[in-house]
Amino acid sequence: MPTRWGVFQTIGFERETPDGSRRVETALALLLGDLTEGAPLLRIHSQCFTGEVLGSLRCDCGEQLEIAMRAIAEEGRGLVIYERQEGRGIGLMAKLQAYALQDEGLDTVEANHALGFEADYRDFGLSAAILHELGVGRVRLLTNNPGKARALRDAGIEVVAQVACEAAPNPHSLDYLRAKKEKMGHALALGLTETGGAATIEVAHLPAGAAWFAADAEHLL
Ligand SMILES: [Zn+2]
Repeated sequence: MPTRWGVFQTIGFERETPDGSRRVETALALLLGDLTEGAPLLRIHSQCFTGEVLGSLRCDCGEQLEIAMRAIAEEGRGLVIYERQEGRGIGLMAKLQAYALQDEGLDTVEANHALGFEADYRDFGLSAAILHELGVGRVRLLTNNPGKARALRDAGIEVVAQVACEAAPNPHSLDYLRAKKEKMGHALALGLTETGGAATIEVAHLPAGAAWFAADAEHLL
């Protein structure tokens, strides 16, 4: 599939969810270059209809996807797994309800809890299964979310580095991003750097969970 950043091989995956509900979960894998050598860049991206299609400024999703695809294209190899987990897994309708609660003063985590959901309702099992299927066992993960790196490691994928994938905040997204940083531990500088972008933070020799401290330290230098 030709894109603004390059021609990606695109593979669709689907499976019944392992919970026995017979629900089908789907994802797209966008592949560039040889992924069998070394540790290619990987972005696991969750669908955001409001941000990516409608241009909503409430979140950073659309820009994160662009940063990831550009970084992969610049290296000439890597992959994006695009998962259909709108609103950190709660779905589009509940996400709109959460937005209404945020307009009343709750933050993104409190709004999810008020609706009976966990702060992050996603499951990265399908992404891990896709990586195993593609024979990709080592990656450099484009994310600010240490939970995503942990989920992959738990599923047997070696995450040799967590690579920052941060968009510059805007006045509409700042509170949301601050909640992700302070309540969910995301490695976000929130405008302390001049521009957003991708920067590599090698974590191979750091203890588990230390990646985002390293990320903050780098931004503050
Ligand atoms: Zn979004």
